[in-house]
Amino acid sequence: MSEADPGAVRVLGHFIDGRHVTSGTGQFAEVFDPAQGRVTARLPVASTAEVAAAVAAAKAAFPAWSETAALKRARLMFRFKELLEAHSDELAELITRDHGKLFSDAKGEVLRGIEIVEFACGIPNLLKTDFTDQISDGIDNWNLRQSIGVAAGVTPFNFPVVVPCWMFVMAAATGNTFILKPSERTPSASIRLAELFIEAGFPKGVFNVVHGSKAVVDALIEHPDVSAMSVVASTPVAEYIYGESAKRGKRVQALGSAKNHLVVMPDANLDETVNALINSAYGSAGERCMATSVAVAVGNIGDELVERLAPRVRSLRIGGGMEPNLDMGPLISSAHRAKVMRYIDAGVAAGARLLVDGRDRAVPGREEGFFLGGSLFDDVKPDMSIYREEIFGPVLSVVRVPDLASAIALVNAHELGNCVSLFTSDGATARAFARQIQIGMVGVNVPSPVPPAWHSFGGWKRSLFGDHHAYGQEAVRFYTRYKSVMQRWPDSIAKGSEFSMSSPS
Ligand code: NAD
Repeated sequence: MSEADPGAVRVLGHFIDGRHVTSGTGQFAEVFDPAQGRVTARLPVASTAEVAAAVAAAKAAFPAWSETAALKRARLMFRFKELLEAHSDELAELITRDHGKLFSDAKGEVLRGIEIVEFACGIPNLLKTDFTDQISDGIDNWNLRQSIGVAAGVTPFNFPVVVPCWMFVMAAATGNTFILKPSERTPSASIRLAELFIEAGFPKGVFNVVHGSKAVVDALIEHPDVSAMSVVASTPVAEYIYGESAKRGKRVQALGSAKNHLVVMPDANLDETVNALINSAYGSAGERCMATSVAVAVGNIGDELVERLAPRVRSLRIGGGMEPNLDMGPLISSAHRAKVMRYIDAGVAAGARLLVDGRDRAVPGREEGFFLGGSLFDDVKPDMSIYREEIFGPVLSVVRVPDLASAIALVNAHELGNCVSLFTSDGATARAFARQIQIGMVGVNVPSPVPPAWHSFGGWKRSLFGDHHAYGQEAVRFYTRYKSVMQRWPDSIAKGSEFSMSSPS
């Protein structure tokens, strides 16, 4: 795979009703290659009329699509899966160019997206419901799960393939039509996904893509024909979209920010723990919602833990994502790198011990890229901003606590609750931890415990607004409405009126 033409700037477009649309408000967002620090694409911002056209296309496609047999929808998903597999390198390269993550990491992301499609291929079985024969004399009762209509999704920059797949794949499989508003910083892969969806044979209008930022999101929230909003964003944005959508009676699931702890017990296997921390804290330059950003050292394990971590952080191999044998690529933008550096300044000013300083780390030949080395803090306290706030960069904070109860209390007191891990060799400790911890996804001797496609993904507290987690059966529930049907046939009606409630007698 070769570096892109250094001078080329692509013009991207929306994807509405099965066609590319390159017009807009006349405003464009700039898409960067973070490894080169230069603009590679211009992205038109959708006008209100274009958002309305996307909603109209989705609304027009809905009646026929929702009536299409689930088995037929599943067959199209099989075809889509084959196309994703055939184009997985191409999709991964689009991710790496827009986002900066390593090509190997991007390939892993595409695979996770394919796993969602594989799960959706089982939609006839997933939509099966309960039936009770003879709830009363001659009366049966069963449930339907019916499609909800036009759904819209708002996605973050850090997973340009898999997070859209959580949404449009599950929405379409359950008979809905969908409008995706991808991150304006990593939009290229979503357009390719929409093209492949049409190539797989899905009717036009089932999956549409519009670009922009707040104004486009607001137009989707305010549109009366959008029935549901799926959101993955930072907590303030997720909370805003949740509130505005719920106020308008829309169904909404909104996943937010993360501050993930990894608790290290004195009996943990330190080799495994250090490997886990290095991968989880610095992989994808810390720009993962499942990244570990706090290591909680319990008892006397702290000194040995930081002694082992520090040289590993210093020797992280950093470079452009298409190069082989690297540990991490650049951050998404120069502004985000500056923000992460301000957090490091704040940590030093607050009295945390900066054991490894990534701010001075240069990547030779890549001076224009948005690179930052890994940083490691020790003696971080819960009132420091580097502990309280999501940094979303390659910075790991070590907090020391005396015992397991203090570790659990620390994690439970944090306002965010996406995921947590515990490293220990004691089963009873692990069991107590998993039961007492107030967090949505828990790993025991597993860092970044991302559930597979047939479970569901989501945090607790201010990491998720709404009742439903993403993908798995939770997505089937979110994208369908439950209906109870009770039925009796003329034989019994002929017996005359009944004035009591039907119930098993
Ligand atoms: P972001 O909140 O800046 O943007 C996310 C999306 O919201 C984008 O599509 C953006 O255009 C839109 N948006 C931004 N400001 C908006 C506003 N004021 N009103 C309406 N829409 C707006 O997030 P990001 O920087 O793209 O992504 C990183 C964040 O996403 C991190 O906080 C990370 O933890 C979170 N994230 C969470 C999960 C999860 O599963 N919980 C997964 C991935 C990322």
